[in-house]
Amino acid sequence: MATWHELADLLFPEVQSTISDLLTQYPARSEQVCLRFSPSPTGYLHLGSLYTTLIGSTYARQHKGTFFLRIEDTDQKREIQGAASLLIQSLKIFWISFDEGPLGEDERDVGAYGPYFQSKRADLYTVFIKHLLAQGLAYPCRMTEAELNAIREQQTQAKQIPGIYGKFSKYRSFTPDELIAKYHQEGDQFQVIRFRAPGDTTKKIVFHDVIKGEISMIDNYNDIVILKGDGLPTYHLAHIVDDTLMRSSLITRGDEWLTSVPLHLQLFKAFELPAPAYAHLAPVSKLDEGKKRKLSKRHDPEANVAFLLEQWYSVQGILEYLMTLANSNFEDWRREYPELPLADFQFSLDKVGVAGSLFDATKLQWVNNGYLSRISTEELFQQTLEWATTYAPAFASLLQSDEAYAKAAMHIERHTEKDPKRFTLYSDVQQQMLFFFDNEWEKGAEIRKALLAENEHFGALQDFVRTYSEVVNLETDEVLVWFDQLKQLGKQYGYAATNAEFKEGGYIGKVGDLAMFLRIQLCNAKQTPDLFSVMKVMGKKRVVERLRAFSS
Ligand code: GLU
Repeated sequence: MATWHELADLLFPEVQSTISDLLTQYPARSEQVCLRFSPSPTGYLHLGSLYTTLIGSTYARQHKGTFFLRIEDTDQKREIQGAASLLIQSLKIFWISFDEGPLGEDERDVGAYGPYFQSKRADLYTVFIKHLLAQGLAYPCRMTEAELNAIREQQTQAKQIPGIYGKFSKYRSFTPDELIAKYHQEGDQFQVIRFRAPGDTTKKIVFHDVIKGEISMIDNYNDIVILKGDGLPTYHLAHIVDDTLMRSSLITRGDEWLTSVPLHLQLFKAFELPAPAYAHLAPVSKLDEGKKRKLSKRHDPEANVAFLLEQWYSVQGILEYLMTLANSNFEDWRREYPELPLADFQFSLDKVGVAGSLFDATKLQWVNNGYLSRISTEELFQQTLEWATTYAPAFASLLQSDEAYAKAAMHIERHTEKDPKRFTLYSDVQQQMLFFFDNEWEKGAEIRKALLAENEHFGALQDFVRTYSEVVNLETDEVLVWFDQLKQLGKQYGYAATNAEFKEGGYIGKVGDLAMFLRIQLCNAKQTPDLFSVMKVMGKKRVVERLRAFSS
């Protein structure tokens, strides 16, 4: 009578190492805490993945642990060419730093626990698979697609619990002799390996999740495929092998995996290995016609972080927003410590919501505005420049054409008592800065004309403009001195200095109208930052030139 060992040797003659050899090769880490981010390279960086990574990296950093990146590319049907490097680049943009992973040039491994692409770990998986086979805890299955479909149909019709388990698994009851005979008859083509599940459809299991607490669930009863026909493992087996050999202490992952925990715990037990702790994160969702649903790659452009960047959001704003979703006390902390870096926030896994949060674009804007308003003008300038270099190169060149001027324009009203927090997005920076640059101002001649035409008296201001150009006092730092001068001169041209004066009659307008005229003429807009500051930043020469353009 053949043994399971003999079957295992027949199927994997080349595998000589044992699990304990591998555990020696990848020894326990000196740090207690080790987390990973392990995306499947199926497209761009999803906001939900960034959320998961932010949580993982923050937790690892705060516990002085390791954080590594593993690319889960065993499902080669779903894989998109170049997606892994796109993902790595996007994570770099978001300052997510890893201690280990395929981070070197040409995605070369950095770290002693690799390879960090699952597709390069086939040899490691087979050691584990062979071990299970040798114990009789797994078996090769040759059920065809047609057989699997027939079972599914039969189960649906008879209202039975679906799956390949118990009597529904044709090869579960085969002895090693029978399986060896099959192998000799049919060879190793189209063979998958299934785990022999110890559970049945009635057993329950209770386990602990760091976020969700105690969970009670039906135990796994399915004889899940652990090795596919292409020689690569399924997620379940790969998770056990990788997180064991890479020494992960805590698994932070999406809660779509929560129902797989019973299976994963069975697998750890089958290998007599300790299971890591689990923290399952509810997805970032959105309300769709009143119903809550996960942000979807296909339907929600905002699910793509690259899209948010293109929409002029800042990296830090997005990260801070995600932190408000992760820990609701983050906002209070930020209010109290506006200067501290995000990394100083004491993140707590216990405070992560069980139900998941709703994506809220207005809140994201509010957080982004808070961030852009807080940072120094120098920092804002550098970030805007960096952002514009990628997404709005013409604006980047403009900023670089006169950096000191650009910074002065950006700085207007910032960090003052009445700071209007001018910039919510980098697009506001652009929008409020363009007119400072002469070429851009000239391009707005038509808009300017149209705006000026809205006030019938503006057309007759030539004389005022001529005189004002000669005397305008921009040497003073006192807004009142500047404004007094405007008032005095205004009176001579029929503009009242106050409302009360205007009401007395005899005036064609008020000094406010003149200020509006100047705004439009100098900035091509009716709404601008503080006019006096704008004029000071522009400087007398430029102001006079723009005024003269009116009378000429
Ligand atoms: N590759 C899995 C996914 O992208 C990761 C799950 C995990 O973190 O274990 O869903």
